[in-house]
Amino acid sequence: METRIIKIDRERIDEGLMEEAATIIRKGGTVAFPTETVYGLGANGLDEEAVKKIYKAKGRPSDNPLILHISSMEELKPLVDEISEEARLCIEKFWPGPLTIIFKKSGMIPDIITAGLDTVAIRMPDHPIAAKLIAKAQVPIAAPSANLSGKPSPTKASHVIEDMMGRIDMIIDGGDTGVGLESTVLDLSTEIPTILRPGGITLEDLREVIPSVIQDASITDSQKVPKSPGQKYRHYAPEAEMLLFSGSVEAIVEEINKRARELMEEGKKVGILATEETRDKYPQGLVLVVGSREREETIAHNLFDVLRSFDEEKVDIILAEGVGYNHLGMAIMNRMLKAASGKIIKL
Ligand code: AMP
Ligand code: MG
Repeated sequence: METRIIKIDRERIDEGLMEEAATIIRKGGTVAFPTETVYGLGANGLDEEAVKKIYKAKGRPSDNPLILHISSMEELKPLVDEISEEARLCIEKFWPGPLTIIFKKSGMIPDIITAGLDTVAIRMPDHPIAAKLIAKAQVPIAAPSANLSGKPSPTKASHVIEDMMGRIDMIIDGGDTGVGLESTVLDLSTEIPTILRPGGITLEDLREVIPSVIQDASITDSQKVPKSPGQKYRHYAPEAEMLLFSGSVEAIVEEINKRARELMEEGKKVGILATEETRDKYPQGLVLVVGSREREETIAHNLFDVLRSFDEEKVDIILAEGVGYNHLGMAIMNRMLKAASGKIIKL
């Protein structure tokens, strides 16, 4: 399959090119596009054959349901059974934005979207290119992250090109994404509002609107079975083995240096995922800086790109500094824990 790449400036969107992209979606094709979280791989969410192409291009297991993306509130009503008061409050405060809400689904939603569940995940992205594509296509767009299943999610067009060239119809290069981690997934279809996946809208943010919101235990404990089907897979993972270190910054640096020395003596190529504050404290190993501990949004923004860079450098093992579990740190630690297949060393 030939994949066309088009470049769109988010500040000056080319209407003609967007129309071409939207036509591909309407006709049942696949288009990768930027959002404020990560790049999405989109298809008409009401067309079963089109949605099959997403699963095929990604190599995604069919029991992992998809998120439907909309661009206005009018598009929401026909897709869901009901909009609760809690959902209304969250929508008002956080849409458009990196919050996916799980609703009881309406009869319009094909089974392939929800992997047979009676609920559906919906989000309104806060990115002018994504919003324009959905509005012009005039259908909800099903869009998981535009990476091969199991690989780190794409935050730059070059990541999408690496994974999807020849597998989809079009890639819209709209520059780097914003948050850099996938959306928060909030289940409002059950008795207790529950975060199934942490993301850019944090537990603390949600508590301001729904004080009773809780977090699925699997988010911080990889031994627990997740409620959200997709969360059980080894996600966001680099090729190399990864070990995650958590504790005080001093203890982390000391332990990483000790392990790096031992591993290098064994002849291993060692990557160290460091932060601005600690970069000068590692005398050996391939040190890549993910961002600043003072501004965790920089860590979220760069994390997947840095994981891909370690693969390019063909390191055997990544020793990664953890952060705290507050605010955005929760989502960062959740992705790092998955990248490390649950291998966390608590100091
Ligand atoms: P992705 O778009 O690849 O970032 O993944 C979408 C995430 O949303 C996965 O973790 C899915 O398991 C989750 N998801 C989608 N639909 C539902 C649903 N109806 N109930 C629970 N989780 C869902
Ligand atoms: Mg994904």
